[in-house]
Amino acid sequence: MKQKENIKQKLKLYLEKRDFNAFNLKSVIFDMDGVLYDSMPSHDKSWRETFDELNLQHEPYEFFLQEGRLGKSTINEIFQRNLQRDSTDEEEEKIYARKSELFKQYNSDETLPGAKEVLNFVKEKGLVPVLVTGSGQHSLLDKLSYHFPDIFTPETMVTAFNVTNGKPHPEPFTLGLKKGGNLLPNQAIVIENAPLGVKSAVAAGIFTIAVNTGPLDDNVLIDAGAAIVYQSVTELNENFPLILDIINDINLHS
Ligand code: MG
Repeated sequence: MKQKENIKQKLKLYLEKRDFNAFNLKSVIFDMDGVLYDSMPSHDKSWRETFDELNLQHEPYEFFLQEGRLGKSTINEIFQRNLQRDSTDEEEEKIYARKSELFKQYNSDETLPGAKEVLNFVKEKGLVPVLVTGSGQHSLLDKLSYHFPDIFTPETMVTAFNVTNGKPHPEPFTLGLKKGGNLLPNQAIVIENAPLGVKSAVAAGIFTIAVNTGPLDDNVLIDAGAAIVYQSVTELNENFPLILDIINDINLHS
């Protein structure tokens, strides 16, 4: 089967590059926005309106391209470009509060089709589901246990509140490995939808699968380092049993 061979090749390439002999999978690390929740359109709209209110220019698709960054980092980028200076802590706090207020207004809490199924499957297989998000928005974080019951605990979640350096820095996913049970990079895989999230996971040394649930081109995710790109979480879910089989089977020296 061509698809199986293709996945196998990607996994082999990863192991060779990272100097591992095999996977020893213990955990699957999930990003939140655009992977579990259909929340990116609301994030995008809220950011655009927030900066429009301040007469600060932004680029088309900017908030999809910058997705995963900490809020203060996104604000600072816009300040640097528009005002040629850093944003202050006070400005960052105020602007992020306004953006969060709009987000709360616009977001419908819709989960992405397939998300619940893939999380449940991971758990059934005895793997630890870990969440790694750049989000600091209580309006969604607080609802995770409602939409995805018995999946994540505070001990298996990394949010904006736990890191100094947000994505694309490796810190969030390095901490994710720790929270998954002091794991090595070959003991987990990552599911991401954003280019900076993919970069962060790859920089942490983890095999990364992208789900392209937004408006960006697949190539943006591939260039960021995604080994496989699916067009939806449903497509990921359909292929997940096969991926796990191959991961458990693969060994470079057998
Ligand atoms: Mg995301």
